[in-house]
Amino acid sequence: MNQLGTVSDLRGKRVLVRSDLNVPLEHGTISDDGRIRASVPTIRELADQGARVVVLAHLGRPKGEPDPKYSLLPVAERLGELLGREVFFATDTVGENARSTVASLDDGDVALLENVRFNPGETSKDDAERGEFADLLAALADHFVSDGFGVVHRKQASVYDVAQRLPHSMGALVSAEVDVLRRLTEEPARPYVVVLGGAKVSDKLGVIDSLLDKADRLLVGGGMVFTFLKARGYEVGKSLLEEDQVDTCRDYLRRGEESGVQILLPTDIVVASEFPGSDTSAEASVVPADEMPADTIGLDIGPDSGKAFAEALADARTVFWNGPMGVFEFDDFAGGTRAVAEALTKVEGLTVVGGGDSAAAVRQLGFDETAFGHISTGGGASLEYLEGKQLPGLEVLGG
Ligand code: ADP
Ligand code: MG
Repeated sequence: MNQLGTVSDLRGKRVLVRSDLNVPLEHGTISDDGRIRASVPTIRELADQGARVVVLAHLGRPKGEPDPKYSLLPVAERLGELLGREVFFATDTVGENARSTVASLDDGDVALLENVRFNPGETSKDDAERGEFADLLAALADHFVSDGFGVVHRKQASVYDVAQRLPHSMGALVSAEVDVLRRLTEEPARPYVVVLGGAKVSDKLGVIDSLLDKADRLLVGGGMVFTFLKARGYEVGKSLLEEDQVDTCRDYLRRGEESGVQILLPTDIVVASEFPGSDTSAEASVVPADEMPADTIGLDIGPDSGKAFAEALADARTVFWNGPMGVFEFDDFAGGTRAVAEALTKVEGLTVVGGGDSAAAVRQLGFDETAFGHISTGGGASLEYLEGKQLPGLEVLGG
């Protein structure tokens, strides 16, 4: 497969770069710019080569039409600051403004096109509709660089179809991410410990299936833990629960016992009467995991569990962590995530943190990013890779 470093002459060429610039916005300001910073090296390298760089990205989940709430304009500004050069912004993706913006670029210039998801063809399940949109994207450029790791598991026009229509290469970010994931799947140093949490429970249960054959220990926290606790027959109150996955979790617990893979669940939980909000201050208390009051909601793993998880990580030689242990956005429910992050910084071996919110949590809690081996920009993509699935955005590059 072509990697960017081996593509020699893109000077003067119009190069479409699919980046992942899907950053969290709070009242219109970027609260964590990690993904933008991770995208800068490839864009800079291309611009330094004298390419005319046209960046494609999405923000949030608009419904296939323009929605000012999801405009990439603030991202263009931040990208410009980080690159130290002007980033021209096109107010549409494949319309007149995009075409004239691209046409006016000089060698070494950088433009960002408006949110690709303002176009229904981007995420369409219909190959023809996606293809039509990809034709318009491809018409803007001479070469395509895939650098949005967070979206390579998506069969979408700007990730997959456009790569079929242009000479293409893999960007430095995708390449680095894939290298690390390969190290996790091919003979990881042992003990290999996986920590799973977060909110997207059903998305993440699938990976457990394949990890039961590969990891030595599985530590479960975050929103997904309540489906496991329910499978053990515990009361979980108003906590996040995937009712239809309880049997699957019970099966995982049984398989863990049979295969000797230790599945560690929290023994205490931080609960409150309601989900915390900016104007409600839910009173937090710690209860045993098997004694959650029915009128409470579990929002973090408790302090004993934090210690137990840290101990289970102490002798690890390989760690993959995806998903915060609790609602870390609120300090009362950040203790479990902090305990796991702290433990990871002490591991002698490869530590990988995957997932947008997990990466944001690590930074928000004040950890030095360099204390972790690798902070991945893609949660879903890294999980699907570890599951052994084929990722359309990688497959289409031919590797
Ligand atoms: P990532 O982006 O790292 O893959 P997710 O998007 O799956 O992680 O989940 C992150 C979110 O999970 C955070 O916003 C956090 O508040 C939430 N979360 C963690 N624990 C719980 C819980 N017990 N109940 C509800 N939400 C939770
Ligand atoms: Mg997330």
